[in-house]
Amino acid sequence: MNKLDSELSIGSLVKEGYTFIEDEKDADVILLNTCSVRHKAEHKVYSQLGSLRDQKEKNPGLILGVLGCMAQNEGEKIFKRMPHVNLICGTRMFSKLPELLEKINGTNKRILAIDEDGEVNFDRVVTQRDDRHKAFVSVMRGCDNYCSYCIVPYVRGHEFSRPVEDIINEVKDLADDGCKEVMLLGQNVNSYGKGLGENTTLATLLRRLNPIGGIERIRFVTSHPKDMTRDILEAVGELPKVCENLHMPAQSGSDKILGKMRRQYTSEYYRGLVEMARSLVPNITIASDFIVGFPGETEDDFEDTVSLVRDVRCQNCFVFKYSPRTGTAAMELKDDVPEKTKKKRNQILLDLQSEISAELNKEMIGKSVEVLVEGTSKTDESRLTGRTRQNQIVVFSGPSSLLGKLTNVDIVDSTDLTLFGVTSEF
Ligand code: SAM
Ligand code: SF4
Repeated sequence: MNKLDSELSIGSLVKEGYTFIEDEKDADVILLNTCSVRHKAEHKVYSQLGSLRDQKEKNPGLILGVLGCMAQNEGEKIFKRMPHVNLICGTRMFSKLPELLEKINGTNKRILAIDEDGEVNFDRVVTQRDDRHKAFVSVMRGCDNYCSYCIVPYVRGHEFSRPVEDIINEVKDLADDGCKEVMLLGQNVNSYGKGLGENTTLATLLRRLNPIGGIERIRFVTSHPKDMTRDILEAVGELPKVCENLHMPAQSGSDKILGKMRRQYTSEYYRGLVEMARSLVPNITIASDFIVGFPGETEDDFEDTVSLVRDVRCQNCFVFKYSPRTGTAAMELKDDVPEKTKKKRNQILLDLQSEISAELNKEMIGKSVEVLVEGTSKTDESRLTGRTRQNQIVVFSGPSSLLGKLTNVDIVDSTDLTLFGVTSEF
């Protein structure tokens, strides 16, 4: 979501004649798009702003701005801590960026642009997509779930689904622009359709997008377990372009902790969903998120999480140490799991998941997989990299003429993170 917001911001500025440059030292405007989900993310931004102080002193005309969730969350506090910042632009003000910069240009003014009830703007003006062959498409904004630990509903506002026709038009435009894969984005993407009439759901949206020519793959992220339906899973199983991969965070395996997190499901329910997904879509891969060290998490609670991770055998998991966020309901609970324990639990889950991922990837050796070729490998420029429909990363030898194309790769080796293969399609 943040990456898309960055692309939209750059796009709106490029449209006004700004040029995007790689080296910040040459910039007239520096904008940091930010995250506030965990304290560490905000801390990083403050330290980066601190290190930009010298550049601003040398070049007082430089416009320095903070965008997005942390701007929305911290507001004026950023000006107090970082007096050299010119602009604080919240999550609903991205579309106003060109005007805001115009007002500041040449004046060194400071503008606080935060609108709690501002309109959700989905207009796509992106001219600067990182990847020509893949694009993010926002299908909804905000979140109404209020999980007790999470800042998102406070900084992103209420859930709002975008009309189907708008999404179809955008995906058609992207296809005309050479895009092969779209990733539909929503904090709670599988509740898509609220407020659009009872016949509009993520499943019906997928069915409308599937026939669009030029698009080869459709993904969606992130799915909340409480909103997962048989209809959606059937659509994933039936529609040829919808990829067999779910990102469906469990957060914990302990029902006591899930209750305190206000997640509205039990670990048994989560297991049932995974089973249903696998029976309707046999080759589906599942990714999950877990938070360790939530207030009151005992060794037994953590063991329940370990069991869940061991039993569901996700393709990959993102594990986070609980980070208290001011304003959320969990702030009322004592952050009583010591940092050392959080770290230990974090590592145990990561190690377990890495073992499982390595085993699952090993099972892929000898199979042939369809890969959308995305670029050259970071570790070996002579090799190409891409993803399978199941979102596994594949590194293989092949000519650069395959970039942006679908190719079949025979898997010959693997690690926990990567499949290695060869293609004969050239
Ligand atoms: N909407 C998605 C969902 O409900 O699954 C997740 C969005 S959230 C930005 C991404 C992940 O950050 C969550 O799945 C959760 O694991 C983690 N997260 C959110 N708030 C957190 C907090 N206060 N401390 C640690 N991790 C947190
Ligand atoms: Fe945060 Fe929960 Fe909404 Fe996800 S569903 S964004 S974790 S409040």
